[in-house]
Amino acid sequence: MTAQPYKPNFKGDEEPKLKLPEYMILIKEGHYEVNLCKLEGTGKFPCPVCGSVISPDDETEDTYSIVDTKTKNFDLEEITLECNKCKSIHKNTRIKIKGFIE
Ligand SMILES: [Zn+2]
Repeated sequence: MTAQPYKPNFKGDEEPKLKLPEYMILIKEGHYEVNLCKLEGTGKFPCPVCGSVISPDDETEDTYSIVDTKTKNFDLEEITLECNKCKSIHKNTRIKIKGFIE
């Protein structure tokens, strides 16, 4: 599946609540995509909705759960995460992480 075009889905004149960093795009309401190629450092980034720091090194699933993984030629292509902090609040935030393959 190819990447979907940027299509904001805001109701009426509602503006996005916060400006997204360069490495993150909004695919549709509550669904974000992070490009690791543009994310410098350790790969940590804050959840765009609640601000919880999501770290790929965190294996405790306190902050997030992996809901889907995709591979291409046995290499990791993308991971879809669900923010557990948001889930506990009520919003269901999905964050797709791409850019594993150089
Ligand atoms: Zn969150």
